[in-house]
Amino acid sequence: QARKRFGQNFLHDPGVIERIVRSIGAKPDDTMVEIGPGLGALTEELLAVNPRLHVVELDRDLIPVLRTKFFNYPELQIHEADALRFDFSELATDGPLRIVGNLPYNISTPLIFHLLEQSGVVKDMHFMLQKEVVQRLAAGTGDNNYGRLGIMAQYFCRVQPLFEVGPGAFKPSPRVDSAIVRLIPHETLPHPARDLTMLQQVVRTAFNARRKTLRKALGSLITAEELQTLGINDGLRPENLTLADYVAIADYLTENRPQATTANEADHD
Ligand code: SAM
Repeated sequence: QARKRFGQNFLHDPGVIERIVRSIGAKPDDTMVEIGPGLGALTEELLAVNPRLHVVELDRDLIPVLRTKFFNYPELQIHEADALRFDFSELATDGPLRIVGNLPYNISTPLIFHLLEQSGVVKDMHFMLQKEVVQRLAAGTGDNNYGRLGIMAQYFCRVQPLFEVGPGAFKPSPRVDSAIVRLIPHETLPHPARDLTMLQQVVRTAFNARRKTLRKALGSLITAEELQTLGINDGLRPENLTLADYVAIADYLTENRPQATTANEADHD
């Protein structure tokens, strides 16, 4: 019985599973990590290529199911844990991680933010997500779906949407379309901010008022004159700025208002 509260929609279409595994292109000595293995449909195919697999599953009732199903894979490490709190760097002792998951959609955005913060130990990530979330991850300046998630994902990673998957590939079927995305952490950040917390605050503040002009949306942080000094037209809307613009604003504030960040401000993503 699938559990809704854990976002359980189990893959059962072998064609889709094979296509995901092919896209990942695992090598036998990669350190692979699967988030939310569920009943092990994807796990089984990952193990066929790479027996050194870690899986992180929150639902404790699924742990014995996985242990029984994969008893003859001694190198498989099953972690009963919440991926939102999991320290992935612990697994990266033999090199950067290749992370995979058909993610629980109810927590996919916070989980992606959690993983982005650990992208220093990650080689790449392949995720099944709600199609709209993939669109938001990949959105560029000016797109309807452009916002906090895409900007922060692109700060850390190259984002490559791969292919769409219909509801029929899962049991039970979700009410939404899904898509596979690949995230590849940048080796060197193209637009490093001096203070990441400040960048996050600027982006969050801007998109909490995404229909307003920058002058209004960012008015609590920076004046219209200061925006103009940075070469940013204060009559634009948050969706019109590039990542480089947001970093320029954040760096300006880091330099001129060193006390300004409030790390725990409410999230309205
Ligand atoms: N990978 C399996 C498949 O494709 O059939 C299951 C995918 S299902 C969409 C999501 C899985 O993530 C479930 O097994 C669920 O129990 C697990 N899960 C939910 N929340 C989690 C969390 N916070 N940490 C780790 N796993 C979680």
